[in-house]
Amino acid sequence: MILYLATGNRHKQKEMQEILRDYEIRIPADDGIDFNPEETGLTFYENSMIKAKALWNIVRKPVIADDSGLCVTALNDEPGIYTSRYAGPDFVHGRPDGSKISQEEQNRLLIEQLNTSGSKDRSCHYTCSIVLYVAKDRFFIAQETFEGELIESIDKAAGTGGFGYDPIVYLPEYGKTVAEITAEEKNKISHRGKAVKEIAEFLKQIKI
Ligand code: IMP
Repeated sequence: MILYLATGNRHKQKEMQEILRDYEIRIPADDGIDFNPEETGLTFYENSMIKAKALWNIVRKPVIADDSGLCVTALNDEPGIYTSRYAGPDFVHGRPDGSKISQEEQNRLLIEQLNTSGSKDRSCHYTCSIVLYVAKDRFFIAQETFEGELIESIDKAAGTGGFGYDPIVYLPEYGKTVAEITAEEKNKISHRGKAVKEIAEFLKQIKI
């Protein structure tokens, strides 16, 4: 059974595939579909629904779509839904021309922004909203978080696992960054891992 995942991100595809083992997780690029809907929502949920509906309208088969990001408590939960576009304190919601900076730069600038905010609170959390869109007016929603702390300086970035901001998100209970724990460990506790498991439960209950 094929489940379409509304993303261009192969890391997300891999993480989803590891949890939803009974399904073949395909992304639009696997079928040569050009997929880049405008994420105009103001919340993770709204953006995941926009992506799910947009892909369902193309494939007309069950779709899952996620929207996720990193929320830093002392920065009023920014960059949040703008995490992938984050380009430093002057461009927290992204650059006006839409150009992106490297992940290394994003990591460095986010730590710097927190360090110059004057706050001692280093807590942050990832959020993930997932929509399973089976048909019009037949959809399921799961939303979860994954708590951590931003490391104190970019020199302390560590690990090669995961992706994105994982090398700079520290998990005190593990004494490691998210990029240093194994994929299995991450799936058990992560925002996306927990939300996908809830979606897996929905999938068991419905016939598609
Ligand atoms: P999305 O693809 O629009 O959902 O954007 C997600 C943003 O949040 C990207 O910048 C990702 O790098 C970041 N992000 C989401 N989940 C994770 C994670 O598990 N690890 C690291 N970065 C993440």
